[in-house]
Amino acid sequence: MKITFPYMGTSHLVISFFLKELGHEIVYPPVPSQKTLSLGVKYAPEFACLPFKILLGTYLEALELGADTILTSGGCGPCRAGYYGEIHRRILHDLGYPVKMIILEPPLVSPRDFLHQLAELVRPKGWLNFAKQFRIAWAKLKVLDELESTLHKLRPLALSKQEITKVYEEGLELIDQARSVKEVKAALEEALSRLHNVPIDPYCQPLKVGLIGEIYVVLEPFANHDVEKLLGEMGVYVHRSIFLMNWTRDNAFGYGEKDVRAAAVPYLNQLVGGHGQNSIGEVVRYAEQGFDGVIHLAPFTCIPEIVSKSIMPAVSRDKGIPVLTLFLDEQTGQAGIQTRLEAFLDLLRQKRMKQEAS
Ligand code: SF4
Repeated sequence: MKITFPYMGTSHLVISFFLKELGHEIVYPPVPSQKTLSLGVKYAPEFACLPFKILLGTYLEALELGADTILTSGGCGPCRAGYYGEIHRRILHDLGYPVKMIILEPPLVSPRDFLHQLAELVRPKGWLNFAKQFRIAWAKLKVLDELESTLHKLRPLALSKQEITKVYEEGLELIDQARSVKEVKAALEEALSRLHNVPIDPYCQPLKVGLIGEIYVVLEPFANHDVEKLLGEMGVYVHRSIFLMNWTRDNAFGYGEKDVRAAAVPYLNQLVGGHGQNSIGEVVRYAEQGFDGVIHLAPFTCIPEIVSKSIMPAVSRDKGIPVLTLFLDEQTGQAGIQTRLEAFLDLLRQKRMKQEAS
């Protein structure tokens, strides 16, 4: 089979490695662009959320390149994500693409279904090979997160923002080339050392901002107009609440997010789907950790984040932390995002100055 998958942050480096080593031919979709989104918007229901539209556009582009199978994840709980694989499949079939969808559901929710879908992927080279490659893929997942969080710390301090981004991309390349756990660890060491060699301003005291919201728009730079990079280049330390590793662990093994959810309980005491409850808990935690502010990313029409947005003013007031919610859809432009970020950062700087003066 000729298999493809959607982009989400750096996850493609792990997924493509894994699929190749399991014995599959991969069709890389183009990196999401305006063309991808336009395609998705054209064929998706109007009320669908932004991730649905970008994914649909990505699938259409990959199918044009010859893919016949799509690997994607499922979902559970009160959010539409659980239906997306099936709805995508029906739209693509109606458009004349008899594509096969492999939808990996969270293993703890439907273990039989998960194993059945996984077996399809494992078939060409067997389970022993799967176990071996899984270890390497897991190691890659871990080091990609470490490299990215180091970038977030160093980018606001770097004297040349362009240089640090280039060095980071070289680091990704090193990790991509690694073919064993030992090589993955060595690649990380080399990449970190190169990042730490980029000259920085050691006296810089950057604003500290937490980045929260729906997973796809938080992780995928195209969906959020590269907000992390924009902020880093404006001299802000961005702490992202979601990384690939913690998301995979939470989804696969069901642990890791309990503290965040507990922090949300005084304001929202039940799951509302997606990352809605987490968004509230994360604001509470960022306030407790002394962050200057929080940026909340939400796809337009995303019910979980609409719920959290409606509670956000109360959390922000009680905890004394400013929160900026950015709703994202196909109409959102980078200039608008940049203007809103600049205004928000001005507010945070004034708040910090007042605190320092008192
Ligand atoms: S969490 Fe929101 S954006 Fe994500 S799939 Fe669900 S409804 Fe769509």
